[in-house]
Amino acid sequence: MTTTVGKNPAMQPPQTPKPALDFLDLKAQFATIREEVMAAVTRVMESQHFILGPEVKQLEEEIAAKLGAKHAIGCASGTDALILALMAAGIGPLDEVITTPFSFIATAGAIAHVGAKPVFVDIDPVTYNINPELIEAAITPKTRAIMPVHLFGLPADMRPILDVARVHKLVVIEDAAQAIGARYDGQYVGTMGDFGCFSFFPSKNLGGAGDGGLVTTNDPALAERLRMLRVHGSKKKYFHDILGTNSRLDALQAAILRVKLKHLDSWEDARRSHADRYRQLFDTQHVSSLATYPAAPPSKFHHVYNQFTIRCSFRDELREFLRQAGVPSEIYYPLCLHLQPAFAYLGYSTGRLPIAESASREVLSLPVFPELSSTQQDLVVKAIADFCATKNAA
Ligand SMILES: *Cc1c(COP(=O)(O)O)cnc(C)c1O
Repeated sequence: MTTTVGKNPAMQPPQTPKPALDFLDLKAQFATIREEVMAAVTRVMESQHFILGPEVKQLEEEIAAKLGAKHAIGCASGTDALILALMAAGIGPLDEVITTPFSFIATAGAIAHVGAKPVFVDIDPVTYNINPELIEAAITPKTRAIMPVHLFGLPADMRPILDVARVHKLVVIEDAAQAIGARYDGQYVGTMGDFGCFSFFPSKNLGGAGDGGLVTTNDPALAERLRMLRVHGSKKKYFHDILGTNSRLDALQAAILRVKLKHLDSWEDARRSHADRYRQLFDTQHVSSLATYPAAPPSKFHHVYNQFTIRCSFRDELREFLRQAGVPSEIYYPLCLHLQPAFAYLGYSTGRLPIAESASREVLSLPVFPELSSTQQDLVVKAIADFCATKNAA
């Protein structure tokens, strides 16, 4: 929103300090791959082939090969990836899908969009991912699927989730939107359940120049269904076997994503070493009385740090202090899904899922993008240490 500022100096808004760095500096990343990206864009423009086509097919093959998935199907967004997976699984009205209340709205929104009912299960207080021990109690005769989210780039604890799904014959749809490249016990996220759903939203670890998404599956029949669903349910043009939608990945996005895919591993290494360095710096700064930060997960969990999220019971004060110091931060997420007005009809009230609710009051994500410099990271840490010192002295 913009405010018109008059000549009267009394009407000047309070000075907002200029941020010393960005929360996510996409321009810094673009500077490192400009020529490759521009060549890819030119290639597509010369071809004038914009919808699906060879670039999309090659990206699908490259991602499937990297992740070890049999099939990958590009689509218009991560939200659509979830919706298409639910549609391909035949999930709809009267069905229930178990998921986490601590995620982006799209996770539960997709479930509601196909007419099914999201059933929320509380999270683990350390990993912020769905607590597998609580899933079984939420299963009813209407339960059709479990949708775990690999939040912030950390794999959900998949073994017990897959076990309970097998016992109760439930579909597993992994929301891997924030976690491309993450591994659980050596296996890439998105390849363990029946479907893996990815987003290429610009802020994700593999981000396009706009919206985009992709579904992975190892089942050839489901793959064929997904390919039909994204083009209005047709295999042969203008003949529609099933009802689908329009959800295709653009060739321009695919060409750009193919360039960026080649750099994904090195960007992931950078994110992981920033996380390690945050831990080292926080250790020496003794911030632990007021803020906690994520310990390195057990080696079974390969974290790709789409977010580096700390926790502080004075979160809002800390965030304002950081803003004054020119340090940007973000809150993922300030309101749990079960308490969103859009889900009021589900009838959840405050206190129902206490672990997720307390996380939503205390979490704060810090800059962790690959190009973050040591100087910038030092600034972030110093500002947090200053806050703790000020607060402890008060
Ligand atoms: C980003 C995201 C989505 C949705 O992806 P879009 O491409 O923005 O539609 C879904 N789930 C989670 C957990 C996400 O972070």
